[in-house]
Amino acid sequence: MRLIILGAPGVGKGTQAKKITAKFNIAHISTGDILRAEISNKTELGSKAQEFVSSGRLVPDDLIMAMIKDRFKSPDLEKGFLMDGFPRTIEQAEKFDEILDELNLKLDKVINIILDKNEIIKRITNRIVCNSCKKVFKLADFSDRELKCDSCNSVLSKRADDSEVVVVKRLEVYEIQTKPLIEYYSNKKLLADIDGLGTEEEIFERILNHL
Ligand code: AMP
Repeated sequence: MRLIILGAPGVGKGTQAKKITAKFNIAHISTGDILRAEISNKTELGSKAQEFVSSGRLVPDDLIMAMIKDRFKSPDLEKGFLMDGFPRTIEQAEKFDEILDELNLKLDKVINIILDKNEIIKRITNRIVCNSCKKVFKLADFSDRELKCDSCNSVLSKRADDSEVVVVKRLEVYEIQTKPLIEYYSNKKLLADIDGLGTEEEIFERILNHL
């Protein structure tokens, strides 16, 4: 199965992506996770990407496309994949179509999670992430507990770009640069709109109904 998950920052793409890829045993390709790892490992790509990620702007397409091309050389994509956080622009989507054409692969579905802006800001400001396995938690659930992951026991922390000022910028970037992808994939008859309000399990069920 070959999927893309779309939606504004904070709608729960990463959480649902983990559930989907575990259920169908396909690769989870999160460009945000790859970039954060490159930044924390202080690689050349990481140093080029850092200023964009920390200010909430998009990393230039040439860097992202080189990263994607590299990732698509790996044999683990045979069973399928889910793209999370990519494509982010029409240009990336067109270049991704070219890569898929070259590999003779077709997308099965583009899942578009929809959530109200106020709910998004509420969720992002309350979110903490496992530094190791990247599982997402709600800060409010930890008032009397240590900030440790219940899956791998690693430390949980806030993403550097989850501050309110950067979130506002990321939402603005989404509206201008990423939202046009909804029409792009709708025209290709690939889009499945999913209501993002509800529990993780409810949203997962809604997604499964389209797969
Ligand atoms: P995410 O984890 O998907 O919210 O991504 C975090 C940040 O990484 C974004 O705000 C961008 O700065 C950068 N980023 C992730 N994916 C892309 C992409 N496909 N194109 C450009 N920048 C990206």
